[in-house]
Amino acid sequence: MPKHTSQRQLFESQPAWVEDDARRGTVATVVLPDGVDKPLDYLVPESLAGAVEPGRRVRVPLGRGNRERIAYCVAVRSGELPQHPLKSVAGVEDDAPLLSRRMLDLTKWMADRWLARWGEVLEAVLPAGVRLSRKPRMTTLLMATGAEPARRLNPAQAAVLAAATDPRSAEDLARESGASRAVVARLVKVGLLREAGAVERSVGGGDARRPISHERPDQLSPAQARALEAIVSAVRAGRHETVVLFGVTGSGKTEVYLQAVEETLAAGKQAIVLVPEISLTPQTCDRFRARFGSVAVLHSHLTPAERHDQWREIAAGRVGVVVGARSAIFAPTPRLGLIVIDEEHENSFKQATAPRYHARDVAEWIARAEGVPLVLGSATPSLETFSHCLQGTWKMCRLADRVGGSQLPAVITVDLRDPKSRSRGSVSPRLAAGINWALDGGGQVMLLLNRRGFATQVQCRSCGHAVRCPQCDLALTLHQPGNRGICHGCGLVNRVPADCPECRAPKLAQRGTGTQRLEEEIRRLFPGTRVARMDTDTMQSRGSHERTLDAFRAREIDILVGTQMIAKGLDFPSVMLVGVVNADAALHLADFRAAERTCQLVTQVSGRSGRGPLGGRVVVQTSTPDHPALSAAAKHDYEAFVRSELPIRETLLYPPFGSIVRIVVRSVDEQAAANWAGHITDRLRKEVALLAAAASGSGSAEPKIRVLGPAPAPITRLRDRFRWHLQVQGPDGDILRDVVRRATATLQTPDNVAWIIDVDPVEML
Ligand code: ADP
Ligand code: ZN
Repeated sequence: MPKHTSQRQLFESQPAWVEDDARRGTVATVVLPDGVDKPLDYLVPESLAGAVEPGRRVRVPLGRGNRERIAYCVAVRSGELPQHPLKSVAGVEDDAPLLSRRMLDLTKWMADRWLARWGEVLEAVLPAGVRLSRKPRMTTLLMATGAEPARRLNPAQAAVLAAATDPRSAEDLARESGASRAVVARLVKVGLLREAGAVERSVGGGDARRPISHERPDQLSPAQARALEAIVSAVRAGRHETVVLFGVTGSGKTEVYLQAVEETLAAGKQAIVLVPEISLTPQTCDRFRARFGSVAVLHSHLTPAERHDQWREIAAGRVGVVVGARSAIFAPTPRLGLIVIDEEHENSFKQATAPRYHARDVAEWIARAEGVPLVLGSATPSLETFSHCLQGTWKMCRLADRVGGSQLPAVITVDLRDPKSRSRGSVSPRLAAGINWALDGGGQVMLLLNRRGFATQVQCRSCGHAVRCPQCDLALTLHQPGNRGICHGCGLVNRVPADCPECRAPKLAQRGTGTQRLEEEIRRLFPGTRVARMDTDTMQSRGSHERTLDAFRAREIDILVGTQMIAKGLDFPSVMLVGVVNADAALHLADFRAAERTCQLVTQVSGRSGRGPLGGRVVVQTSTPDHPALSAAAKHDYEAFVRSELPIRETLLYPPFGSIVRIVVRSVDEQAAANWAGHITDRLRKEVALLAAAASGSGSAEPKIRVLGPAPAPITRLRDRFRWHLQVQGPDGDILRDVVRRATATLQTPDNVAWIIDVDPVEML
């Protein structure tokens, strides 16, 4: 037996006289949302026994001043009390647990998995409305008093009273009688309606079991049927399995999700469907709403109170389907039967602020714990997902063909290095010909350019100086009208000077084309066509996104210019041409996923073309047509890209073959940032050396851990903070996290620096 075990046993088997003397009681372990990292123990006083339980929040005295703080109770145990004195819990905050045992386990796992603080994870999984308002919002019910009206009732008033024979909400009364809410209010005022109780305000509603049939196809294709069967058999058996739907755009993946959800509801269970971003996927959300009676769509425009209402409805089991972005995975479904993640390769499933979790991994954990299937759908699965399938841990179902037999569009690659393909602007002769072909054929056009603004750089022709943001290390993007230089890092707006700020020469040139300039160029080249632009600049107001898409669908727009916003999930049968104006834009970023992203983006946007009977084409403009990411996208052979990319990742031990922990240090003082990054790096190298020594001592294999850096981050300055970063890489994520934990455990961070840990980052800038 190893020595340390026997030692611990010595301490555990205490002499009898200690037990006689021991005080017994109940101890609660609590986690603070911020400030203190470690879980703390408190005594539960007799008066609060039973009220303190895991998942509820409590008030506890903290520090020398015993200031009361709200904390999450994560465990309660009764028995012998420790020798050292414990402070007592001061009060209980919630009437019932906010978090189930499972959610507590999940949040603990998340904290370990992404090196986050447990407290901040607990805060992140509960919507603000749930934490703030603890009482449900109530709706007052009204009923007719039966009193004699003082005056003759008008028809609207009579209709309201006729509907008010039993308690109803004002809203229901107005809707049923066709009268306005003002009429109802008036009747209350004159004493003809009275309050008759209150109910919890309900949202959504409807019969969770009854699907509304809406454009539901009579028959699934054989490939769809196989995929559905794989999912549904797991739903019925209550068995966990991860099923990857690898299907080209338009192959009927969404239809498979819909029917899988239908079966889930029929089995009396609930489903969670994650989409990359609600506002970018209006069509997907509409299809779920149209087909099912009770859908909770969790979008970012909900107020905290609305969010809280949705949460209650879901928790009460009154909502069958939850559709939402990343955080909808934490919806408190009591009868979960299925989780779907659409466009699983999207980066937005990773949270960019602490806790930096990935919803795909969280979903896997939940699906496994609940014994339910997880469905991941994409035309371009992430390499992480792909390699799970290649290893056989996840099941891949392919949907190789488009529904209805329409062909994937032919892709024409335009080599911008070839002088014949050049033009004065950013539209090559081949692309212009393609646009004319589509317009002449009665079709529509989508043009992708993943840079907003007018010119991406303002540079002096005389001295070469490029105008930069005063507080970031980024070139200002010129936006028109108004000659505004906007920093895409911090949003700062500056007037762009007429002369070079460096050499005073009046020779500032506007270089690089953004969507604004492209729109202008298109209007000039194709006079008489109706052109619209979709990027975050034009889509500021609420609903503008839907309005533009509706106009495009109604064929009030011929050419739609946009950023990656237009690449996702849209199904417009009249689009005959998709143009990728600059496929290289994202290819050369300092990020090991640059190629994967580019291949995904070009494949996704190409999939918008040729969905209808008119057929379609794609024109891709690039200076690197032979790059595997682009040649694969041009052949609609995403898998060819995967095959070329995986060995590269394997050699470098990049995900999916290893884990990465990235640490970013920020400071107003460049030297302080560099020093602190250096200090952390030294600590990490020491830990790695210790590990290697231990391994060689015991004769086991050396842990292949690399520490890279410190170095200035690709964006070296942002919002007046200098940024340095470093990376630790290794084949085993658990070992890597242990190394980082040990190296950073006792760090005393100086006041003028801040730093973050990002485990398995999707963003390296
Ligand atoms: P994806 O999600 O893979 O892009 P969709 O599920 O949106 O594909 O399907 C593309 C189009 O084909 C949609 O208009 C959908 O209603 C239709 N569709 C899907 N499955 C079938 C089917 N089995 N029979 C007829 N039409 C179908
Ligand atoms: Zn800036």
